[in-house]
Amino acid sequence: MNRQSSPRRPVSRESAAPRGEAEEARRAQLIEVTIDSLAEVGYVGSTLAQIARRADVSPGLVAHYFGDKDALLEAVFRTLARRIDERVRERLRLTRTPRGRVQAVIDANLAPEEFDRRTGTAWLAFWGQVLHVEGLKRVQTVYQRRMLSNLRHALATLLPAEESRSLASMIAAMIDGVWLRAALSQWREADSESARAMLTAFVDSRLIQGAGGAEPRGATPGTALAAAQARGAGVRTLISTNPATGEVLAEIEVDGPREIAAAVAQARAAQPAWARLTGAERGRILRRAAELLRARNAELAELETRDTGKPIQETRAVDVLSGADCLEYYGGLAAGLAGEHVDLGPQAFGYTRREPLGVVAGIGAWNYPLQIACWKSAPALACGNAMIFKPAELTPLTAVRLGEILREAGLPPGVFQVVQGFADTGRALTAHPGIRKVSLTGEVGTGKAVLADAAATLKHVTLELGGKSPLIVFEDAHLDNAVAGALLGNFYSAGEVCSNGTRVFVHRSVKDAFVQRLLARVRAMRIGDPLDPATQVGALISREHLEKVLGYIARGKAEGARLLVGGERVTSGDLANGWFVAPTVFDECHDGMAIVREEIFGPVMSVLEFADEREVVERANATDFGLAAGVFTNDLTRAHRVIAALEAGTCWINHYNVTPIELPFGGVKLSGLGRENGRAAIEHYTQLKSVYVAMGDVESPY
Ligand code: NDP
Repeated sequence: MNRQSSPRRPVSRESAAPRGEAEEARRAQLIEVTIDSLAEVGYVGSTLAQIARRADVSPGLVAHYFGDKDALLEAVFRTLARRIDERVRERLRLTRTPRGRVQAVIDANLAPEEFDRRTGTAWLAFWGQVLHVEGLKRVQTVYQRRMLSNLRHALATLLPAEESRSLASMIAAMIDGVWLRAALSQWREADSESARAMLTAFVDSRLIQGAGGAEPRGATPGTALAAAQARGAGVRTLISTNPATGEVLAEIEVDGPREIAAAVAQARAAQPAWARLTGAERGRILRRAAELLRARNAELAELETRDTGKPIQETRAVDVLSGADCLEYYGGLAAGLAGEHVDLGPQAFGYTRREPLGVVAGIGAWNYPLQIACWKSAPALACGNAMIFKPAELTPLTAVRLGEILREAGLPPGVFQVVQGFADTGRALTAHPGIRKVSLTGEVGTGKAVLADAAATLKHVTLELGGKSPLIVFEDAHLDNAVAGALLGNFYSAGEVCSNGTRVFVHRSVKDAFVQRLLARVRAMRIGDPLDPATQVGALISREHLEKVLGYIARGKAEGARLLVGGERVTSGDLANGWFVAPTVFDECHDGMAIVREEIFGPVMSVLEFADEREVVERANATDFGLAAGVFTNDLTRAHRVIAALEAGTCWINHYNVTPIELPFGGVKLSGLGRENGRAAIEHYTQLKSVYVAMGDVESPY
């Protein structure tokens, strides 16, 4: 038995009097620090004294809040278990089918957060101590009982009583087993997506078997599936909600391998005729679609705002119109697509044909749903491909509207199709042999998974992935412009922008002035109802994402960064049901801090001080990411010298985050492969055919 596991404090934590906000914040901070400690030095190394040191408080203060080490760890594991529980409840609230309820439990327990190295290692410490510490055992029992009860309840309407109980136990065991194996293999054996896909396939197969059992003997598997679907067993749905209010916007059936196969067959049938049109004819349809998008800007912007939680002042100005610009641009380029003529002397010449790839897939992220759908489909279609597009599960709505608009503009049926679903739908697209290319916008981990899956059928791949980009402000910069750039590069779309310049390096001689002007403008920003045209900061996409962002803020504080503004969830008035976080600025940051190293994808800016050019370039490049970078300076030669030295695919001098369709966009290093936008995208949606044409006789030695 571990020395630290007894005796227990007599006071029950549940019966404690309500705590004040400051106390809650301190408790939350100590819990985060303890998770860090468990992740780094394990259970035995995490003593009260060590945790106090990390949190920069006295051991007495930790003891004041938690009593002893066991009580502190119990609080930590209650927090971790509560997070899963909240996630489960959130998902259960959003689903209406029994099958969806089962999926809710799987998805919440195997969410990406649970595969995060830090949380995962803390959980492992917990599992290791459960048998020895009474309080931990209780947390574990409650957690397990709840999972089983949710599963049994959901399965009870789908299967006979005995079978539903046994399947619930199997699912619970698999959830824990898959997670544990992944954790013990240091996350090499499975990630969140593959773990969820495995459980999903298992549950589907068991439910179909169960439904088949009820069929007359000799029924075909197809009939069993139909029966299962009729009972709601095989039908998975996803629910789109408004992140600002929690309002349910739509429930959508998820497409699986069957639907993907049907979509690919339809696309393959439609694509050759589309490719045989002249570029001018294809371009005309795209330009017509651009006009329709513009004409429906108000209506589509509102839909995008409801689906994403972004302020209407952004979606009206950017999301729909930038999609229209993209369709117009590639509509214009389509007529000019050409190969080249190659002079091979008097006896021959050569030429190249720029041909479409065939059927291609687009897989989108949730931050710019309509824009991403346009950025992928417009060049693909201009080049004569057919595209099957999967929007992110959290934002499924506007891609469907784009499909309707393209059809209205004259696009033949089957040339652009939208499929809906989770990661396994994306995987089914990537795996399908009839698809010649995948273009993904998403996280680095997803990019690696897509690249690995695409290898089996040697698909072309474009990857637009994450970043942690530097924005450098030199001492001679126009300071107000630099502040404006930093605001655009951190707080637009509540910070949910891949190219954000979240590492703001400011020369030490102007840092105080920079921070002063920055704070004045951040404090004036309006957080509120995204549909209110005056609102500048809307909601984050989901509760999970909110927790991730708040977790980083807590880590920033725990690691010693100085919080200048923001740093909390906003729940006042009508915002209580949404996922709002105040724009947050940390000062006195160091390069090693998690908030400086990792992509947060929320409204969190880190200000870092530097002294000279060589130093700042080195520090800016000291990251595995390489999506974007910005430089503010009035020294012309320095601007170009520094940009040339920065390892980033998309750069700005004296501006930040403007992405005109004419300029290629994309990353280097772990931020991606290939480019979107500009003429460069044409290279990624076509293949060259080289043709040698003889003008004389064929000489042969035979
Ligand atoms: P994810 O990587 O989680 O998801 C992206 C898309 O991929 C979703 O449609 C997702 O489905 C799908 N998907 C997930 N796993 C797989 C898989 N194994 N195979 C195929 N498809 C899969 O990204 P987010 O949606 O969370 O978006 C945020 C990320 O996107 C950030 O890292 C951000 O930096 C990056 N991004 C990059 C941009 C760029 O241009 N470089 C622009 C915008 C965002 P589902 O949603 O159903 O899980």
